[in-house]
Amino acid sequence: MSNNKNIPYRINLPEELIPRQWYNIRADMKELPDPMLNPGTHEELKEEELYPIFCKALSHQEMDNKTRYIDIPESVIEFYKMCRPSPLIRAYCLEKELGTPAKIYYKFEGNNTSGSHKLNSAIPQVYYAKEEGIDGLTTETGAGQWGTALSMACAYYKMPLTVYMVKTSYNQKPYRKSIIETCGANIIPSPSETTNVGRAILEKFPGTGGSLGCAISEAVEAAVTATNSRYVLGSVLNQVLLHQSIVGLESKAAMEMYDEYPDIIIGCAGGGSNLGGLIAPFMKDKLEGKRNPYFIAVEPASCPSMTRGKYAYDFCDTGKVTPLAKMYTLGCGFQPSSNHAGGLRYHGMSPILSKLYYDGLLDEARAVEQTKVFESAVNFARCEGILPAPESSHAICVAVDEAIKCKESGEEKTILFGLTGTGYFDMSAYESFLNNTMSDYIPSDEDLQKAFEELPKIN
Ligand SMILES: *Cc1c(COP(=O)(O)O)cnc(C)c1O
Repeated sequence: MSNNKNIPYRINLPEELIPRQWYNIRADMKELPDPMLNPGTHEELKEEELYPIFCKALSHQEMDNKTRYIDIPESVIEFYKMCRPSPLIRAYCLEKELGTPAKIYYKFEGNNTSGSHKLNSAIPQVYYAKEEGIDGLTTETGAGQWGTALSMACAYYKMPLTVYMVKTSYNQKPYRKSIIETCGANIIPSPSETTNVGRAILEKFPGTGGSLGCAISEAVEAAVTATNSRYVLGSVLNQVLLHQSIVGLESKAAMEMYDEYPDIIIGCAGGGSNLGGLIAPFMKDKLEGKRNPYFIAVEPASCPSMTRGKYAYDFCDTGKVTPLAKMYTLGCGFQPSSNHAGGLRYHGMSPILSKLYYDGLLDEARAVEQTKVFESAVNFARCEGILPAPESSHAICVAVDEAIKCKESGEEKTILFGLTGTGYFDMSAYESFLNNTMSDYIPSDEDLQKAFEELPKIN
């Protein structure tokens, strides 16, 4: 019935509905994620122990399980205004193409030059570091979106930056290097000879294409060994999910303008930040018993941390230098194959999302194979006029499957998914799909078992 309502293709939030606070889901979780542990003592980590790694404001946000709404600093709001609110798009053309009675919406985060949602957290992370007088930042990047977003944020706040980029992606996407250098940052393919961790990994796995976990180890080592330098991370952490709540808050406000509410919410999950941000305010409704949307996390079959991983304490990095977090993990020693969706090649998953999934509040995790993902990506590009990132296309793929189910059952469900970014730097992946040279690598149980055996033993 409401299909006839006059809902525009693109819903833009008016100024007065733009969120001025982030939402901290932990304040409403009846059971919190297990605390981070000191990797040496296995004691519960204290906020002060994070200070050598993260700046103070971010260390505080990381540990803050109580404050429900946190003010977005004025300077961050000003930057957000250049690319936010991001549009919420009703996928009329896709609906028509599929012949589904479902209503499909997607929140499009690829509207800024960095091309993804990552800028939402890059800006506040650099802002707080600048406020505290930090002299330089280090980070890792997988596919390159985070490195790009962070280099833009660092250029904006005039902050020196070194980026460790996963070697496979560095070679697949040479223009990422150019854009990061255009913004004035220094970029190094990982594993590298510039850190102890990098040298050790190269010795153990010569010729490895690297992984996010390994690049994290190098960036952390580089930060703690330099003076007055700090490390920043683009996903997984509680602080990043907090910043990404802007995505969900805007989506919810935009849907409310038209009395819409999603029955199904879908997002791709690498480290969990876009999904965590998108679902946050809707999860609040579920936790309060007001609504019961169905949440689906989508991951690549090549790196299936939620669908085949263990819920256990693990290191956030391959070099085992970070604190331990309780999360769904494939083991920090897991070396993912060179799946093209570089942003989803991470061994672990946000502790918040892991806990919600473990408790059955995040309803489902689904693993999808790469060729099927690209089929959806190409179809989407042809009817919606946006070239999606491979990561985002995981969410498209499941949204399409759900819409087809609605067609079969005749149900008029409302589907919301996160379209996290654009795929302009992923054309070699598109090309290999179009040439039929793309493969679907799925790790065997033995592959997974090997990495599970190295999980830290916690009493
Ligand atoms: C990094 C990235 C992801 C995955 O990261 P999450 O933290 O899981 O959101 C998804 N899509 C795009 C476009 C990305 O750049």
